[in-house]
Amino acid sequence: MTLPTAPDSAAPAIEVRGLRKSYGRVEAVRGVDLRVAVGEVFALLGPNGAGKTTTVEILEGYLSRTGGEVSVLGFDPSRPAIKGRILSGLAGLLPGMGQRSQERRFKERIGIVLQSTGVDPYLNVQETINLFRGYYPDPLPLEDVLTATGLAEQRRVRVRKLSGGQQRRLDVAVGLAGNPDLLFLDEPTTGFDPSARRDAWEMVRNLKQLGKTVLLTTHYMDEAEHLADRLAIMVRGKIVAEGTPAELVRRGGATTIKFSLGTEPPPVPRELAVERDGTDGRYTMLTDTPTESLHRLTAWAVEQDIELEQLSVSSASLEDVFVELARAAGEDES
Ligand code: ATP
Repeated sequence: MTLPTAPDSAAPAIEVRGLRKSYGRVEAVRGVDLRVAVGEVFALLGPNGAGKTTTVEILEGYLSRTGGEVSVLGFDPSRPAIKGRILSGLAGLLPGMGQRSQERRFKERIGIVLQSTGVDPYLNVQETINLFRGYYPDPLPLEDVLTATGLAEQRRVRVRKLSGGQQRRLDVAVGLAGNPDLLFLDEPTTGFDPSARRDAWEMVRNLKQLGKTVLLTTHYMDEAEHLADRLAIMVRGKIVAEGTPAELVRRGGATTIKFSLGTEPPPVPRELAVERDGTDGRYTMLTDTPTESLHRLTAWAVEQDIELEQLSVSSASLEDVFVELARAAGEDES
């Protein structure tokens, strides 16, 4: 198939079919299909070594692929690898370095945010953003970059004096400077304290409001659950599940109802299908119909005139689904 060479506004931001990548004998990516719509925040999740970075680096144009079809903003990013992803990002833009106008147009429309960009520690925030804005023909206004990344108050602070969380937001500001349509965020909150994470999440929401498409990789389920419109879980080079966070949580199935019955518990009728935990003495019901199960349980308790102590009802979390999928995918291969 010949992929289009010019952007098409009706097309998805990213379309991948049958993507494969081998490093020698290691098959890192083994037939991945992905579709990310324009304006969507899409999260790629997976355990260590799943192939996330390899996939993202192929989409960014940094790594060549072994097989499959890839379209990013209507471009095929494949080309010989250039050492260093930041250099790769700028190589098509700097005067004298751009060899192909198509590569240049592609680089102008994507923003790559690495875990550490390595900007000059002696420049201040504003100078750093303006430096990168200068590489692009149609950069995002400085104020928009500062507002989206929550760095307006730090605009005159030197990079070396920023907190870890603020430095990561500056990395995003650098990725945003050229006003890209698509931003790649690599583990945007790894190592953050809870408040810095909340700030970073706010920033990703700002990026979405600016109309940007965002592809992020993360190890944190709650991050994907909060931020992603859709997500894909990758295990051992394959996508094992894809959908909205709510759809994936629903796949987790059973709801867990737990309660205690005090020191002299009456016998619980068998039809309630309750199990007692030998360690803490609590009772557990697993159910796919929580409303009906709760109704039967509470009706029985009222009839017995007993209190269901420490009563809790919890649905499967994205983390439960993730762990189960990773386990099942591992078993399939062994
Ligand atoms: P992490 O969450 O740890 O960053 P990941 O999902 O990003 O992991 P990749 O870094 O894409 O996974 O690695 C996928 C597989 O490819 C792993 O088995 C890894 O060891 C292997 N791999 C990655 N880069 C290379 C390389 N340059 N040479 C050989 N093998 C590699």
